Amino acid sequence: MLKPIHYVSCSPALAACQRLMQKFSLWLCEENVHVVDITPDNLKARMPSHIEAEWLWTFLQRIDAGQALLTHANEIASTPVNEKNALRSWILTVSRLADQFQPNPIAWPATKPVVAETAWSAFKPLMMAFYEKGFRSGLPYLFDGTPVAIGGINYANFVQAFREAHRQNPNPNAHEVCVLCGGLLGQTPEVDHWIAKSAFPLLSVCADNLLPICGECNSTANKGEKDVHSAGSFDDWFHPYFRSANGKFHLDYVLPELTVKCTAIETADQPKVDNLSQLLNLADRWTREFKAEYANQQDILRGRERCRVKKAQTRHTLADVQAYVQQWQADLLPSQPHHEVHQVLCSAMLEPARLAAWHSELASVS
Ligand SMILES: [Zn+2]
Repeated sequence: MLKPIHYVSCSPALAACQRLMQKFSLWLCEENVHVVDITPDNLKARMPSHIEAEWLWTFLQRIDAGQALLTHANEIASTPVNEKNALRSWILTVSRLADQFQPNPIAWPATKPVVAETAWSAFKPLMMAFYEKGFRSGLPYLFDGTPVAIGGINYANFVQAFREAHRQNPNPNAHEVCVLCGGLLGQTPEVDHWIAKSAFPLLSVCADNLLPICGECNSTANKGEKDVHSAGSFDDWFHPYFRSANGKFHLDYVLPELTVKCTAIETADQPKVDNLSQLLNLADRWTREFKAEYANQQDILRGRERCRVKKAQTRHTLADVQAYVQQWQADLLPSQPHHEVHQVLCSAMLEPARLAAWHSELASVS
């Protein structure tokens, strides 16, 4: 969220899939819906369109861990009414995720619904299969969410659309940047579920919950499947789409430790900034980049000093070192990975004490 994040051209298709998942799972939780009721005709009668109903019936025949997804649907339909009601209530609350970012939201279910393990063990893989199987191979929607029998959008379409919409440099050969950390996105970005799909499988295909990010941000050591709320409260948390962090904080350096810290522009946002930094280990990762680029620039300047010595030219003066940093600062491009960290580094280097230290280090070059 260092960079702006926004919905992309195929987000309406993901939103349509989310509505289908909600409608289907709520229907399975109806008191009078039983195993015998899960038929193509009933799906056509109860789902938003015939195309979606036919896609859903085909989807339910797919095999997951040795059994058809229909088996999971049957299990949910067979669940006792009190558990169906608990699951239904949970689905309705999770479906209203956006409300969590409005004043006085209803309590977010920080834990899974109070149902028997058999019901959850059916609901979870069924919902996750919409992502693992349905989204991977193709959903029954055009980009704008219109139902379509053949040629609907898939995972690769979404990743491509997101990458194109978030390019910092329109040149297709330019580096792409991760929207969360500002580092290099890499050749194969990973689609993050902001709210982990293992705990909230209903959100496995949800336009408000998916964003391609770099592998490092998505790693277990960083975001992984960690919570993005505090015991069910989103008050002290940013959200990629509902409460962006972009423009809400800036990077600072701490001399002489040469570390980076994240400071909220408005004091009230500092808990959110701290949570985001901790979630992604941003301060540590940006400090590593800060020090690595410092070492890189130090090597370049030493090389130039060595060259001058070899050619018997005048050694760098303090003014030369300052001019070098100023030129490096002027050459920084906002579209480059780690732009913000490099900007902070340049500012740190232009501190008189740091310039003087760097200049004196060059005296040892021979
Ligand atoms: Zn990243």
